[in-house]
Amino acid sequence: MEHIASFAASGYAPDRVQLFHGAPLEAILPLLADCPVLRLRAGESPPEAKDRQGRLYVVLHGALGVTPAEVRPGGERGFGTVLPGECTGELSVLDHGAPPDHVAAQEDTDVLVIPADVLWRMVDECHGVARNMLRLLSFRLRAANAQLRRREKVGEFYRQLSMIDGLTGLHNRAWLNDRLPALIDHAHASREPLSLIMIDLDHFKRFNDEHGHQTGDAALVAAAKAISSVLRPSDFSARYGGEELTVLLPGTGAQAAKAVAQRLCEQLRETRVFEDAARPLPHVTASMGVATILDGEDADGLVTRADAALYRAKENGRNRVALA
Ligand code: GH3
Ligand code: MG
Ligand code: MG
Repeated sequence: MEHIASFAASGYAPDRVQLFHGAPLEAILPLLADCPVLRLRAGESPPEAKDRQGRLYVVLHGALGVTPAEVRPGGERGFGTVLPGECTGELSVLDHGAPPDHVAAQEDTDVLVIPADVLWRMVDECHGVARNMLRLLSFRLRAANAQLRRREKVGEFYRQLSMIDGLTGLHNRAWLNDRLPALIDHAHASREPLSLIMIDLDHFKRFNDEHGHQTGDAALVAAAKAISSVLRPSDFSARYGGEELTVLLPGTGAQAAKAVAQRLCEQLRETRVFEDAARPLPHVTASMGVATILDGEDADGLVTRADAALYRAKENGRNRVALA
């Protein structure tokens, strides 16, 4: 690293520095007289400040990479690049407690270093600099807000993804645990019915044994598709686990829910796992238990009653519907 004697000696035109735009140079240049200009080689960082006061780095030539102080070294690198005329470090000046961001030259770079006390004198003595600082901060605020919104969107994307079953594309158990209590609360509050159908594929272990697990997977996918095709947009389907699926019917009473379950049962019976005529066409059937929410009932109670009805459908010969 080299020191160039001063800003004046750097030969850089002051009006190309964003911070000095429109500000009277005769007021600024004397203040800059003691500010060092560092010539950094690619990869080099300015020496750490010994006086612990913040400093503003103005790039005169080259490019400075900035990594926020809160990002661990070796973490997310190349957070931002500061180009000639731009600056970084204003937060360490404004907020004495803020740890300075990590900066390093991305190529051979000349940097004007303005210590906090000099920057404050510029702000005091020169409205143009104060105005430019405000503009810079509002730009930073906008960029930070935009990044927060992007992160929120990415977070929401992964949250949604974590609630989808990888095999069938239906909602998964985590989704059910999240949404069923809310749907039940809504049903109680609005005094609208809510029905749940618990579906279990019949003799699926035998199906796997006879046709192999991959065909079993394909059968599960076909069953999920068949079920989704029968439902209304306001209904929900989820994979409860293994070969068990759940359908939620908001606003639907017991008799209507039973009719839906019977339609699902029929649709499954007619579903072929493979449409390809050259392959054997195993069918799957399912048994279903239907329960409709009772006054004051919670998710556990509703699922338990649907399970009990499902057990009766199995007992009575499978491939059928039983009402709780
Ligand atoms: P029942 O009619 O009484 O329900 O008999 P079943 O054989 O379906 O019930 P059981 O609980 O004995 O077996 C469930 C089977 O479902 C065993 C398991 O291998 C199979 N299964 C569960 N999840 C999957 C899956 O993701 N893919 C495949 N291929 N099979 C699965
Ligand atoms: Mg089962
Ligand atoms: Mg089963």
